[in-house]
Parts: sequence; structure tokens; C-alpha cells
Amino acid sequence: MAAEWARAVRILDSAPEICLACHIRPDGDALGSMLAVAHALRSRAGSAGQRVIASFGDRPFKIPRILRFLPGAELLSPPEYYPERPRVMVTFDAASIDRLGLLEGNAARADELIVLDHHASNTRFGTLHLIDAGAAATAVLARDLIAALGVAMTRDIAFGLYAGIVTDTGSFKYSSTSPLVHEMAAELLRTGIEPGAVALELWDRAPFGYLGMLSSVLGRAVLEPGAAAGHGLVWTTVSRADRAAGGLDFEVAESVIDVLRRTDEAEVAVVLKESDEGTWLVSSRSKGTVDVGRACIRAGGGGHRMAAGFTATGSADEAMARLREHLADGADSGR
Ligand code: 5GP
Ligand code: MN
Repeated sequence: MAAEWARAVRILDSAPEICLACHIRPDGDALGSMLAVAHALRSRAGSAGQRVIASFGDRPFKIPRILRFLPGAELLSPPEYYPERPRVMVTFDAASIDRLGLLEGNAARADELIVLDHHASNTRFGTLHLIDAGAAATAVLARDLIAALGVAMTRDIAFGLYAGIVTDTGSFKYSSTSPLVHEMAAELLRTGIEPGAVALELWDRAPFGYLGMLSSVLGRAVLEPGAAAGHGLVWTTVSRADRAAGGLDFEVAESVIDVLRRTDEAEVAVVLKESDEGTWLVSSRSKGTVDVGRACIRAGGGGHRMAAGFTATGSADEAMARLREHLADGADSGR
């Protein structure tokens, strides 16, 4: 592993142009990690004369509203402007190449493709892999990369890294929260970023219409005690119509799973979120006994043991039926 880090530094030190990409519909870990590295590379670009390009493969190209507070939006460009065949490309938080969306082909053509990730399910689609399934977030690896590049921590870098670790540890609540995570948080906070302000932007604000949407989608939640091999399942849907009533963006649906998963009677919580285009993005969470990552991989998606998802065309009921089946036989494994 040490040799791979050294090789990554050599590649990044000598490249005239570095192309960064994170997974589609980026969350705080994907976009935060990428922006942190973009800031770090830019800060030394003057001396190195390097060009830095950062993007993600969504069309329309929209930075999620809750992530717009992150410094560095001006470092991003839409995928249309991405080099067709990057000399050096780095991916963030993408477990497989299809998670790069419109940038999948660019990644496939890249001469050097450095994959920075913490998914155990990573398919190792690059030419160089900086992957640690034990890391709480990709942001931990991004921090290590920045340090290996010899760039000092700044407030702009810290914002992205902090967004990454709080997103992926659920604000230091999940069991991935290790002493190392808190040590990293301390290092980041010393740059002067304000954790309350970050939490406010990420989770603690919404337009009034959100309350009505929440009321509808939670009101129709279904509890299936026998599902997931008897460990219990709770699920609901957030349709386009639910959001339209309050004039709400897709992203507001992301927070519903955090309410649903509190349900004592269910080991597994699932939210099916309808995109503006009409596909269903399925989010699942486990309390530990059931491996939702395995179930979602079987359903064509990916993720971790405790948090995973997949994308489905067709109806919500069909997607749910498929997942129910995978949960039924994937549930025995266990801790
Ligand atoms: P979330 O439910 O927060 O959107 O995603 C939880 C985890 O599941 C993510 O870290 C990601 O690894 C995985 N995941 C979510 N949706 C998809 C999907 O459509 N495809 C794949 N391959 N993985 C997904
Ligand atoms: Mn992540």
C-alpha cells in the first residue's frame, strides 16, 4: 500500500493536468473529498504549473443545494468540458466505474486512473487503487493524499473533508466513528471551520413545504415484521408528486431515511425516492444484523453493510419486491 501511495504522489507531482471526478448525485463525502483535493492541488498549481479539472457526471449538472456552502464551487466544471482522454484522473467515493455516470467513458480511456475509495465492494476499475474499506469516509483517504502531497491544511480544504466525515459517520453517530475520526475532526476544526454552521447547512434546514412532504411520506410508511428473514423492514416512498406539492428538489428526499430507520421493530429501513426523470433511487439502512450492501448489490446497486442503494426503472412496487427477495436470503449472515 505504501508503494501505491508513493506512486500516486509521483503521478500527481508530474502531471501537467489532473482530472478529478466523484460519483453522480454526489453526497458530502464524494463532493467534499474531491473539492478538498482540488483546493490542495490548486494551492500548489502556481509552482507546479498544473491544470486541475473537477466534475461529476450528472446531466443536468447541479451541485446539490445542501452542498453549495462548500468553498470551491468555482473549481467545478460540467462533464461536457471534461477531457475525452484524461492523462491522469482521480475518482472519489465511486465503488464502480458506472457510478461516474457521464464520465464513465472518460475514466475508461484515462492513461492513469487513481481510485480513492472506502467501499469494500470496490471493483478496482483503475490503474492505481488507494482503497481502504476500514476508512470511515473517502475524506479520510483524501486527507492522507493531501498530506502525502505535502500540502498544508487550510480552512478551504478542511470544509470539504469535514463535510465528508460528518456525512459518512452520520455526525459521529455510526459505529464507523473511531478515535481516528475524532482526531481528524480535531485537526480540521483547528483551521477555524464551525461545526454548527456545517450541520445547519447539511441537515438542519428546509423550506416549509418539507414539513407537509414529511407528514405524507411518514404517514404511509409500512412495517413488515416478517421481512428481511424476520428481522423486520420498514419502508416508504417519496414520489415526484410528494415533492411537487411543496415545490421541493429531489435532495429533500435524502433525509427521510434518517427518520424511518429509528423504527424499533425493523432492522432494515428503505426509502424509494423518485427522481425528476421518474426513476426510483432506493436507499436502505441496516442496524447491523442484515447486510443491506449485499442485498443492494444483488439488486444491481452497491454500498456498505449498513448503508446501500440501487437505482430502478419501473414501479416502486417492483423495486420493493426485488429488494424484499434479496433481503430474505441475505439476512442470515451475521454479526
Ligand atoms: P444513500 O442511501 O445515502 O444514497 O447511499 C448509501 C450508499 O449506498 C452509498 O454510499 C453508495 O455506496 C450506495 N448507493 C446508493 N445508491 C446507489 C446506486 O444507485 N448504485 C450503487 N452502485 N450504489 C449506490
Ligand atoms: Mn463515502
